[in-house]
Amino acid sequence: AGMVSAGLALALTACGSDEIPADSVYANQGATIGISMPTTTSPRWVADSDAMIEQFEAMGYNTEREYAENKPEDQAKQIQGMIDRGDKLLVIAAVDGSALTEQLKAAEAKGIQVIAYDRLLTGESEVDYQATFDNVRVGQMQAQLLVDRLDLDADDDKTYNIEWFAGSSTDNNAQDFYDGNKAILQPYLRSGKIKIVSGERRFNQMTTKDYLREVAQERMTRLLDENYQNQQVDAVLSPYDGMSLGIIDALKEAGYGTDDKPLPVVSGQDAELDSVKSIIAGEQAGTIFKDTRELAKVAVEQGNAMLTGTKPIVNEEEFFENELGKVPTYLLYPVAIEASNYKTLLVDSGYYEAEALMS
Ligand code: BGC
Repeated sequence: AGMVSAGLALALTACGSDEIPADSVYANQGATIGISMPTTTSPRWVADSDAMIEQFEAMGYNTEREYAENKPEDQAKQIQGMIDRGDKLLVIAAVDGSALTEQLKAAEAKGIQVIAYDRLLTGESEVDYQATFDNVRVGQMQAQLLVDRLDLDADDDKTYNIEWFAGSSTDNNAQDFYDGNKAILQPYLRSGKIKIVSGERRFNQMTTKDYLREVAQERMTRLLDENYQNQQVDAVLSPYDGMSLGIIDALKEAGYGTDDKPLPVVSGQDAELDSVKSIIAGEQAGTIFKDTRELAKVAVEQGNAMLTGTKPIVNEEEFFENELGKVPTYLLYPVAIEASNYKTLLVDSGYYEAEALMS
C-alpha cells in the first residue's frame, strides 16, 4: 500500500494545476459522475462506492450511484439512464462484463468516458481505463494459504482431501482467481499430495451463481453428502468471504468443528467484517485483503484526469484486453490476512474499528 500511495502522490504532483490547459480544467467542473455497482449482497461494493462518492464530491463533482443487485438487465437500464441524464463519466463494476456493450457504445457516441472498476468490461465494450487488483495473484495467495496450513511441502507421506469453489461465471475475475488457484495447486494434485474427492475440478463445475453465500452452502452440503460419508475434507478453496461463511455453515451442519473433526482450512477474499470475525474466532483460516480505499482513490484519480484533460495513472499498458483492444489499467496488489496479522493490517490502518470486530 505504501508503494501505491507514493504512485498516487507522484501522479498528483504531475497534474499540478499550472500544467493543465485552462479551457479543459473548467469544462467538466460540477459534472455528474455515474457510479454503477453490481450488488449490495457483498459489503465491499458499498465501501468502494462510498469512498468514490466522498472523493469525487470533495473535488466538486456531483455523483449518482446505483446497484444492479446482480441483474445484468437492470444494470444496463441504470447505465442507459445515466447516459440519458448527461453524466460525463461512468465508473462501472459489472455484474456481467460482456452484457453492457450496447450502452457503452451509446456512451462512446456521446463522448462519455468509462472506467471499468475492479471487473474488466469484456467483449466489444468501449472502455477507456481500468482500475483493479492483480486477481491472478489473489488466486495464488488463496491457494498458498491451503499449502501453508496443510504443510504440503513437509517431507512426509500424508495426503489431504480438498474441495474447490469458483466465483460467478459472468465475472471475468472469477477465471483469474481460478487460474491463480490452479497454478499453485496443480503440482500437489499431480503428485497426489492433495486429492479432490468429488472430482469436480474444472472451472465450469465449480462456479457459484453471483458469488452467493447460500449457493456455496448448498454445493458444500451436496459435496459432503456425496463424497465424505467415510472420510474428512481437510481444506476448501473458497474465492470470496461470503461464500466461505456459507461453506463453514454447511461444514458445521455436517458435524465439523470438533476435536475429532476439526473445520477444514477455508480461504476467502475481501476481508469482509464477518469473515474477519470468523478468522479471529479460529474458523475461517484467512482472507485476501483488497483495500477498497486504495482502489477508489485510483479510479477517482483516473476519472478526474480524464475530466480535466490530463493523463490518467496506469501501470499496466499491455496486459488487459477485450475484443476492442487493450484496456490501460492501474493494478493494485492484494495482501493475505490471517489471525496473526489482522490487527496491524486492518485495525491499525483504520480499515475497521477494533470494536466493530469484537461484537
Ligand atoms: C471482486 C472480488 C469479490 C467478488 C465478489 C470480484 O469481482 O474482484 O473482490 O470478492 O467479485 O463480490
